[in-house]
Amino acid sequence: MTCDCQAPASEAPAAPCLYVVVPCYNEEEVLPETSRRLSDKLDSLLERASISGESRILFVNDGSGDRTWQMIRALHDDPSSMGVSPSCPWFSGICFAHNEGHQNALYAGLMEALDRGCDCAISLDADLQDDVDAIDEMLAKHAAGAEIVYGVRSNRDTDTAFKRGTAGMFYDLMAWLGVEMVSNCADYRLMGRRSLRALSQYTEVNLFLRGIVPALGFTTDVVYYVRAERFAGESKYPLKKMVSFALEGITSFSVKPIRWVTMLGLVSLVVSLVMMVYTLVQALAGRVVAGWSSLMISIWLVGGLVMLSLGVVGEYVGRIYLESKGRPRYIVAESTESYENGKG
Ligand code: UDP
Ligand code: MG
Repeated sequence: MTCDCQAPASEAPAAPCLYVVVPCYNEEEVLPETSRRLSDKLDSLLERASISGESRILFVNDGSGDRTWQMIRALHDDPSSMGVSPSCPWFSGICFAHNEGHQNALYAGLMEALDRGCDCAISLDADLQDDVDAIDEMLAKHAAGAEIVYGVRSNRDTDTAFKRGTAGMFYDLMAWLGVEMVSNCADYRLMGRRSLRALSQYTEVNLFLRGIVPALGFTTDVVYYVRAERFAGESKYPLKKMVSFALEGITSFSVKPIRWVTMLGLVSLVVSLVMMVYTLVQALAGRVVAGWSSLMISIWLVGGLVMLSLGVVGEYVGRIYLESKGRPRYIVAESTESYENGKG
């Protein structure tokens, strides 16, 4: 492949090394188109000296069961076999030994980009619902001094009513819990080297990047874009994953639900004291048989509340257990680079 990886000489020192981090889970249907569009984008950015030739598109294969990893390898080894002809060897990849989830895949990609010496990294989804044309503006805002640039959806028209409703409720709940989040920003954002280094200090396995990144501080800016529909394949975020993602978000940033359980316990105690007085009065008045209904209701209600409260506390205890084991968040089984050197 012919490669002229040097940006025009006059601008060369200023052009940043950009890493585009793309988590992929069973994305064989979208990869050919995604790689073509991203490659075209980087070609044009290089041409305008907005990025350096060392920039890369870093795919993170999150334990896919289909041909995703073979495709990533092919893109790295011989892009023309995938119908792409980039002006530089843009494609690179790492491969998890197992499916570890979107957030871990993102984090791994960002840390790999940091290790490889990038100046900034942009994370985006493999289905290109995030508009790649917003990258230009993100880079411009980064060059103008913003350490983190968030890609924010200008509307949610392409979402189902259910997703719109639940997303709205989730943002409201998080705001109420006091968690700082950027509304309508998924994980499409640019992070500079300094913020990536700060992110690398977060060692928790209960990872919720949408909460962590705003908590890092730094100067930030926003780029608005219209989120497209997934152009092929199915969503890899079924309801079950969405619920567990929301739970991660809540439990990793707030202990308020545990406090609510305590409050609930206090209220129950007060109610039970009142009930005790009432029961004694009834007993003394000789009306003890009556009250079966209220007794049944109380038993079920209190039982339900106790179970629910235990569940909430359990969620936190379970997470403490996971954190205390300090296991690695993910295992990288292979990388296009080590594969190249025969180490993979
Ligand atoms: N993804 C991942 N691991 C998972 C689930 C999803 O790496 O366990 C990736 C997926 O390949 C995609 C991104 O996360 O690049 C967002 O997933 P998707 O587009 O299916 O979610 P949706 O847009 O439907 O919320
Ligand atoms: Mg998507």
